[in-house]
Amino acid sequence: MKKVLLFLIDSMMSDVLERCVAMGKAPGLQFFMERGQYISDCVTVFPTMTASVDCSLITGVYPDQHKVPGLVWYDPETNEMINYINGTASVGKLGFEHCAKNVLFDLNERHLSRDVKTIHEVLEENGLVSGSINVIAHRGHKRHKVHMPPVLDAVTRFNLREKASGPTIMSLGTLVRPALFRPIVWNWAQSAAKGYGINDTYAIDVLIEVINSGQQPDFTLIYLPENDHKLHVSPHEAVEHLAEVDEQLVRFLDSYSSWEQVLERNVCIFISDHGQTLIGESDEHNIDLEAMLAGFSIHRLGTDVTDEYDVVICNNERMTYLYPLKEENLLPLSAAVSQDPRIDLIAWREGERVVVRRGGSDRFLQFWKGGPLRDPYGNEWGMEGDSGVLEVEQEGRDICFGTYPDAFSRLYGSLFSQRGPVLVLTAAEGFEFLSEASPTHLGGGSHGSLHKQDSLIPLLVAGASRPFPVPARLVDVKDFILQELGVAVRDRR
Ligand SMILES: [Zn+2]
Repeated sequence: MKKVLLFLIDSMMSDVLERCVAMGKAPGLQFFMERGQYISDCVTVFPTMTASVDCSLITGVYPDQHKVPGLVWYDPETNEMINYINGTASVGKLGFEHCAKNVLFDLNERHLSRDVKTIHEVLEENGLVSGSINVIAHRGHKRHKVHMPPVLDAVTRFNLREKASGPTIMSLGTLVRPALFRPIVWNWAQSAAKGYGINDTYAIDVLIEVINSGQQPDFTLIYLPENDHKLHVSPHEAVEHLAEVDEQLVRFLDSYSSWEQVLERNVCIFISDHGQTLIGESDEHNIDLEAMLAGFSIHRLGTDVTDEYDVVICNNERMTYLYPLKEENLLPLSAAVSQDPRIDLIAWREGERVVVRRGGSDRFLQFWKGGPLRDPYGNEWGMEGDSGVLEVEQEGRDICFGTYPDAFSRLYGSLFSQRGPVLVLTAAEGFEFLSEASPTHLGGGSHGSLHKQDSLIPLLVAGASRPFPVPARLVDVKDFILQELGVAVRDRR
C-alpha cells in the first residue's frame, strides 16, 4: 500500500499557485499538478485562522464539534483568554508562558474535544503508524518529551514536566524530535530566530530524515508556515514566496532516485489552510473596536476577567469574537457595531438559530439546522429573512453559496463551538480589526473572515487511487486519506 503525505502550506492561494506554475517558478508543484487532480475552490472552515483550521483538518469536523473556536478566544469556564500565539505584543501582555502552554498543551489536551478523534488516533487504533511534523494540532496516543530551549526556560521560567501527546512519529521544531533518526546536524533552521525549527527548511529536513530512516509512517502531515508570514508583509510578492516553498518541495523530490518514484510510493496531497486579503494602506482600514465600543468597559489584556468588565475582545485579524460578560449586553454590543459598513457581517445565536446582520444596514437573515432546504454538501437547513445578507441562491429546495462559501455550516460551526454568549464580527474586504496589542497589516495581507477571498483554497491530490469528491471541503480530507489507507468506514470515527 502507498504511504500518504499531506503538505499543509499556510496561506497558499489558487491564483498564486496557478501564476507561479505558469511562470515556471514552481517545478515541484507543477510536477504534481500535471499528474494529479487540482481543485481550485476547496472550502476551509471559519474562522479562517490556522488553529481552528488545523483542528478541522485532523478531525474532519467543524469547530462546533472539535471545540477550538479560533486562534484567539475566551473560555468562560476558566475565565481565561486563550491565545495560541498570535502577535508578539499581545503574547507579551498575556505572558509567553501562558501562550506557550496554550499552544503546546491546552490546545491538544484540554480544548480539542475528546468526542472527536484525530486522524492520528484513528490510524493508530487501526494498526497503522501516523506522523506529524510541526503541526500545532497533533493529538495522538503516544506521549513525547518536550525539550524547551535553555534560553526560553531561563527567560520564562517555563518548567515543563508534562509530555505532549501525538502520533508515533512527532516533530515540533526542536522542542519535540522524533526518536528514530540520527540528530539533524545543527543549522540555522533550528535557531531561535527561525522559530526553533518551526519553519519550512527544518520540516523538510525532518521529512527526508524520516523517509531515509526506513520508518516512514503510513501517513505524515507536514506543516510549512513561511508562506503565510511573508504574505502578511509583502502580498505583492506572492509568486516569489510560493516559489520559495517550492524549492523546499524540490529538495524533498530530489531525495528520491527519481521524481516519478515519489508517486510510485506515495499519495501526495497539498492543501492550504486559508487565503489572504489585501488590507488598505490608510489607518481607516484598521477597524478600531475599542473606539467603536467606547460606551462599554473593555477587558484589558493580562488582567483577570471580572464583573467590572462588559466585554472581552478576541481579535482574529479579519474576524473578531466579542464576548459579553452579561447576556443582556449581547444586543447592545451588536447595535454598537452595526452602523459601520467596514464591518461586513455580525452574527450570534438565538436558541438553535443563527442570526446574521449585514454591517451598516438593517438587513437580517436567520438560519437553523434541519429545515426543508439542502446545501451542496447534503446538509439540511431552514432560512428566514433576507437571504441577500449571505448572498444565498435558492432554486426550489436547493441552496448554494457564492461570496460566502459553505456559509451556513461554517458560521454555525464557529458560533456553536462555545456555549456562552458570543458575537461574531467579520471585516469587509480591505479591512481588519484593531484592538489592544493586536497585530495589524496595513498595506499587507490578512485573513480570518467568511469571505471567499479568505476561504477558498487549492487542493492538489496526486498518486491517489480515486478522485477527491467535489465540491471539495477541507473537512473531507481526513476521510479521503483514511479511505486511501484502507480504513473501513465503521472504523473511521
Ligand atoms: Zn496568517
